[in-house]
Amino acid sequence: MSSSVEQVSNVFDTILVLDFGSQYSHLITRRLREFNVYAEMLPCTQKISELGWKPAGVIMSGGPYSVYAEDAPHVDLDIFKLDVPILGICYGMQELAWINGKQVARGEKREYGPATLNVKDASSPLFQGMNHSRVWMSHGDKLHGLPTGFEVIATSDNSPYCGVAHKEKPIYGIQFHPEVTHSSQGKTLLKNFAVNICKATQNWTMENFIDTEIKRIRELVGPTAEVIGAVSGGVDSTVAAKLMTEAIGERFHAILVDNGVLRLNEAANVKQILGEGLGINLTVVDAADEFLDKLKGVTDPEKKRKIIGNTFIHVFEREAAKIQPKGGDEIEFLLQGTLYPDVIESISFKGPSQTIKTHHNVGGLLDDMKLKLIEPLRELFKDEVRHLGELLGISHELVWRHPFPGPGIAIRVLGEVTREQVAIARKADHIYIEEIRKAGLYNKISQAFACLLPVKSVGVMGDQRTYEQVIALRAIETTDFMTADWFPFEHDFLKKVASRIVNEVDGVARVTYDITSKPPATVEWE
Ligand code: GLN
Repeated sequence: MSSSVEQVSNVFDTILVLDFGSQYSHLITRRLREFNVYAEMLPCTQKISELGWKPAGVIMSGGPYSVYAEDAPHVDLDIFKLDVPILGICYGMQELAWINGKQVARGEKREYGPATLNVKDASSPLFQGMNHSRVWMSHGDKLHGLPTGFEVIATSDNSPYCGVAHKEKPIYGIQFHPEVTHSSQGKTLLKNFAVNICKATQNWTMENFIDTEIKRIRELVGPTAEVIGAVSGGVDSTVAAKLMTEAIGERFHAILVDNGVLRLNEAANVKQILGEGLGINLTVVDAADEFLDKLKGVTDPEKKRKIIGNTFIHVFEREAAKIQPKGGDEIEFLLQGTLYPDVIESISFKGPSQTIKTHHNVGGLLDDMKLKLIEPLRELFKDEVRHLGELLGISHELVWRHPFPGPGIAIRVLGEVTREQVAIARKADHIYIEEIRKAGLYNKISQAFACLLPVKSVGVMGDQRTYEQVIALRAIETTDFMTADWFPFEHDFLKKVASRIVNEVDGVARVTYDITSKPPATVEWE
């Protein structure tokens, strides 16, 4: 975003989380936001002079390195010049100790798992409301003496320096991980630090974010420029599009590309919900023939994905060129619904051979169209986006919709994608989702869909022999989509869905339920 525009971290009191590469680093940010304190994560190598905003406090995360190793990452010592409270977690604490006397070395034994926290200084503001709580340990190195100027405020059986505090300044180090839920009062500790010690205002709410963000979008786009963006009917693009509409009205142009492999009646529904319902300036482009022609004869899943991705860019660019901005100004920005986890993924600290991966959802669009990117959701986690969506008046049903892949039903029709095959898969999927909703299970399931398997199987209907294809049903439960388990439906439910699909969808003779978890299977079949 342009530097003339106020960053969120300049508007809300912000805790800076410096990431040393721990698998838990992003959780620190999440926890703080759960009690309405805004937090932003940056790599541990961040130069403080280049920050552009002043944090209310700094948290140094854990990390896989050993502070005493030659290639270990180290913090910019300017954090101490900020004169704000600092909390070091695990590696972060060891880093504090390394800077203040270097008394860190390998421990006799690794410590991984639960430990009991013995608070030695009950008056420490860090431990208010906590005592003898269970904390989560994950380290091999430990402090072998007190850092210069520090005192012990807590111990554990294996860690005599489980918690340390500077004698004069609000600088703390803890050996355990308060950000994981296994630490029973971890959130209390983080709140003590952020709210009581850093004095950060608890005003990070989506209600406040809407105002800030609308102002920010208006400033960034200016009084005349136009913005274009693709919508899919999914949560992220709808929320982003509605926010743009609130900010700049008709100067935001949404395009839905009907690629012929959307869900049943999807294009019409999106037109109704986003266009008429939410007042988004929307153009629906029917490009089904173009996509399906290109998919003819293609059976390789990767090829299908590529064809759909490339055709999408082509169609989108063509349609964008047709849009005549009212004020006569050029389209200058491309909206993208990037979320904070994508940002974290691209900035998180990957070690001394740090690879910064930029996130490319849009492929070649930006280069081809010479557009600037606008990403109003890039500070938000998914649950924050959903909350924002509800505040913007988007229906609960849409806000809690299951994710849907970009290549759509094309990767749920195994083998060749034809109009007829898409029609079968769509109808079956529609019936399945309808029954899931009726049974009140939609929000208990993370993702559900039907797949069409191009395998013929014998059946009998009305004394007639049939020889038709197979529908496989999939439903999974997951918190992060990295691992997933299949959903344990009642037998009666499966019986009903199977009977409806075979009876109502021509071309299906058999229904099966996929009982494979991820791993070893993926969520989608292709
Ligand atoms: N690598 C350091 C250790 O083993 C820090 C571990 C951590 O931060 N979780 O002690």
